[in-house]
Amino acid sequence: DADLALRAPVIPIREMPRADGCGDAPVLRERGQREVFCGLTGIIWLHRKVQDAFFLVVGSRTCAHLIQSAAGVMIFAEPRFATAIIDERDLAGLADVNEELDRVVTRLLERRPDIKLLFLVGSCPSEVIKLDLSRAALRLSGTFSPRVRVLSYSGSGIETTFTQGEDACLASLVPGLPGEQLSAAPSLMVVGALADVVEDQFSRLFAQLGIPVQFFPPRRADAMPRVGPNTRYLLAQPFLADTARGLEERGARRLPAPFPLGVEGTTRWLRAASDAFGVQASTLDAATAAPRERATQALARQRTLLAGKRIFFFPDSQLEVPIARFLSRELGMQLTEVGSPYLHRQHLAEELALLPTGTSLSEGQHVDRQLDRCRALKPDIVVCGLGLANPLEAEGMTTKWSIELVFTPIQGYEQAADLAELFARPMVRRLRLAA
Ligand code: SF4
Repeated sequence: DADLALRAPVIPIREMPRADGCGDAPVLRERGQREVFCGLTGIIWLHRKVQDAFFLVVGSRTCAHLIQSAAGVMIFAEPRFATAIIDERDLAGLADVNEELDRVVTRLLERRPDIKLLFLVGSCPSEVIKLDLSRAALRLSGTFSPRVRVLSYSGSGIETTFTQGEDACLASLVPGLPGEQLSAAPSLMVVGALADVVEDQFSRLFAQLGIPVQFFPPRRADAMPRVGPNTRYLLAQPFLADTARGLEERGARRLPAPFPLGVEGTTRWLRAASDAFGVQASTLDAATAAPRERATQALARQRTLLAGKRIFFFPDSQLEVPIARFLSRELGMQLTEVGSPYLHRQHLAEELALLPTGTSLSEGQHVDRQLDRCRALKPDIVVCGLGLANPLEAEGMTTKWSIELVFTPIQGYEQAADLAELFARPMVRRLRLAA
């Protein structure tokens, strides 16, 4: 199927090859020790996206260290995230902590009039768990509104894996989104943080299709999208279960689609919106022909290196299933195991239907058992978190850090080859080392 897709320079959209399907495939459920980053990590890409928001982690020195090192120790005159470090306190000291938090926030907002949206981000130290951050956010919102909105969510490693931080952040915004105007025409919302360059490309494509679109999260806090019963939304990321639930409670309806990764995923994603908004197939064909052809040609080069190579996914980012679909169908890679921290059957239905029949799927983590399976399978490349990558490299395996899949713009036609390149590069490096 993938051969067929790649040989034809531009495939007519309606005749895309049918999938074998993994929709009802059994899933191995693992519930053991995990090796993943916590939800605080999401701050790294979210603070770049919403440019007048500030993320104040209420946490320990460990949290501060994680944020600082994951962010690559950025030296900004005006950073958009920080950690308020809470030292050990007993319950009697909590009143002081609340006062201290108010003092820190007041000082921050006095110094930084550019901040319009402040997130208090919870973490896992027991002193923080005892604090009621949602109440603190309400109290501080009362003090600083309308100039600044204060919200809270948890990025704690006990409750969240790293991409779930974005879900928690966006879900906290949903109840405050403005409602639709009376007799609003149907509109599209794209949900999930996208790099600005990708957002601009999609904006242009939706404009060509004549579909009015809003993006969530927006680039500025005062440009939040409207939501209501006339809103149809497309998920741009597969890890937004709570956000989707919140949007549905506000009346919005999800458009089922694969995720916009690779030529096929992007085309099917755009087609879901086109069908919902009554756009002619020929209009979609015309709007996407040139970028599809460019991407298909660029992928053909990567395919010579990646076709037939065996890949193993440890559960980490929740992007595993869409990426496995892309690698298998467009680049001819073989999937040995596709692990994901959480498999959302509904949101992934269109993706699972496109996986080759018989793909080994696992949900959750039991790191020792997965390591055993990985070693036994001897894949050509392993996708895993930073904690596992070094030991596996030392054992002679080729690895790809899953966190890069979240930091790199990978959605849409123009980024399809970049996504393939993320997997090709470590293989080339390994070949050079071997030579
Ligand atoms: Fe570590 Fe928890 Fe802080 Fe994350 S939130 S850095 S897991 S202490």
